[in-house]
Amino acid sequence: MTTVVDEILRHVFDVCRDNTSGAVADYIPELAAVAADGFGIALATSDGHVYEVGDTQTSFTIQSISKPFTYGLALADNGEDAVARKIDIEPSGEPFNEISLDPITERPRNPMINAGAITSASLIAGRSPGDRFERIRQAYSRYAGRQLTFNDAVYRSEARTGNRNRAIGYMLRSFDIIEDDPDIAVDLYFRQCSIDVTAADLSMMAATMANNGVNPRTRERALSPALVERVLSVMTTCGMYDGAGDWVARVGMPAKSGVGGGVLAVLPGQMGIAVYSPRLDQHGNSVRGVAACRELSSKLELHFLHVTRAARSAIRGRYTVGEAPSRKRRSETEQDALARFGDRARVYELHGDLLFSGAETAVREIGNLDDELDALVIDVRGVDEVSDIARTMFDNLRTQLAATGCRASIVDPRGIMGRTASSIDPEDPAGRVFGDLGSGIRWAEELVLDRYCAGPRQPLKITTEHHPVLTGLTADQYEKVAALLEQRHFARGETIVRAGDSAAGLFLVLAGEVSSTYESRDGGRQRISTLSPGMSFGEMPLLAGTRFLLDFCADTPLTVAVMTVDDFRSLTDNAPEVKLALLSNLAAGAYMQMNTAIKSLGHFDVGR
Ligand code: GLN
Repeated sequence: MTTVVDEILRHVFDVCRDNTSGAVADYIPELAAVAADGFGIALATSDGHVYEVGDTQTSFTIQSISKPFTYGLALADNGEDAVARKIDIEPSGEPFNEISLDPITERPRNPMINAGAITSASLIAGRSPGDRFERIRQAYSRYAGRQLTFNDAVYRSEARTGNRNRAIGYMLRSFDIIEDDPDIAVDLYFRQCSIDVTAADLSMMAATMANNGVNPRTRERALSPALVERVLSVMTTCGMYDGAGDWVARVGMPAKSGVGGGVLAVLPGQMGIAVYSPRLDQHGNSVRGVAACRELSSKLELHFLHVTRAARSAIRGRYTVGEAPSRKRRSETEQDALARFGDRARVYELHGDLLFSGAETAVREIGNLDDELDALVIDVRGVDEVSDIARTMFDNLRTQLAATGCRASIVDPRGIMGRTASSIDPEDPAGRVFGDLGSGIRWAEELVLDRYCAGPRQPLKITTEHHPVLTGLTADQYEKVAALLEQRHFARGETIVRAGDSAAGLFLVLAGEVSSTYESRDGGRQRISTLSPGMSFGEMPLLAGTRFLLDFCADTPLTVAVMTVDDFRSLTDNAPEVKLALLSNLAAGAYMQMNTAIKSLGHFDVGR
């Protein structure tokens, strides 16, 4: 399939192809030997897919595109401070091979010009020059995702003619920027410039930077995220030499060019592009490389300062527990209390990336409610990335709310907010972490009920006499029913009946909790409702002759009183007045439940 990306790449290739201005570098004699018309464009996404057109498999020497990669390795070897004492990071406005230092700091102006690059090479760790070069080659190979090789002919050619770079090396030595033999540093630099790459390789090296330092294909880390940021910054301001300002304005990506004809550009988080075309402009940048990058940037909208839209709030949904209660079946008193005070507990569902702006708007909105809230549930299941600052902002919100008496919890099965369900003390005033939204909402409901439910709360256990299904019976009638009831106990997690079972009796819950659930398509458990003492189940198959639609599972140690199918049926002949009382109690209960279900339909959410 030809995609839009393929078509745009082809279009850009065609538009630029006829531009034969510029000249191949010949100050390194061997470079003049290349086919001047070679032209290839490769684009690698940050998940490792490569689009390519033209001569993307032609080898050429990496030359100055090596500079950011060696600089990255020098930073990793020595730390940012030690490197900063040797190399500045200011754009120079000078040609790449200028023999100069900053007059005030007496340091190379940046690592993208030769003076800075030779200094980077001098900072690479290793037991011997050979070992140091091997570390450089290995490092580049990690970015490329394959073993890159050394071009001896180009190296020899540059070593023979590279007096200007030797002059730079000696200048650096005289200012003690290089502390040992400058010839070794310059030789290492010539060698790194002579590593062969293709446009496809360079695009993958760029994609590794775009992917925060991890090669998207091999999954190998080439550089830490903090150093990627540092290297890309310097590429932005200094990567295109004295053409850097124009480049940022017209292309808008951190980039690096080399006199071998390559250009590489990185769009952080998205992709890397590479162009190969050996004819150079007066700055030493590939003519068609620059032109193709401009075209690609505008056609694919790659400029890194292109503002697509103002950042949106991370809030996807907001509701109160009154509007969207948990699946726990509740007594009328509790339902009334939740209807009146449910807006004191709110749920916020967040989505997208929680970076500064998304977190800031969400925290501001929630923070403004503080005096009206008793409980807050923040559901981060829909969130992708969380930045440290966002985590700090939410932690702070939680402590601020705690001071006003509002407790906050998060629904965070992946632990992306930095705390896991088990790592947190249930009594911690700062709040709790839940694996599913239902548990979070239920926690908030209990908090509201503890504070505002004036009437009796649902009991933790009841006796059969007080079970609502058996109310309104005379003492005599009760005796008859009680004789048919058998108490059964189940352990936490035990299944009582399964979906598909036929009628199994009438189950009256006396102590503990039981949930009806089903297995969803992804193999997880979906909870339909949670029953507590005073409630019953099993009546549907018993009365309607259907099979169980759901599994019933004990959430806690459970005690039920069970009347068998046969005993229930025998009541019709043996004690019809008892059966009538039972049926009217069951019918009343069923209608009540239906009412609640209809009320909650407006906020139905299967994820709960
Ligand atoms: N090896 C080359 C030099 O130092 C690299 C220059 C470049 O690619 N801009 O002259």
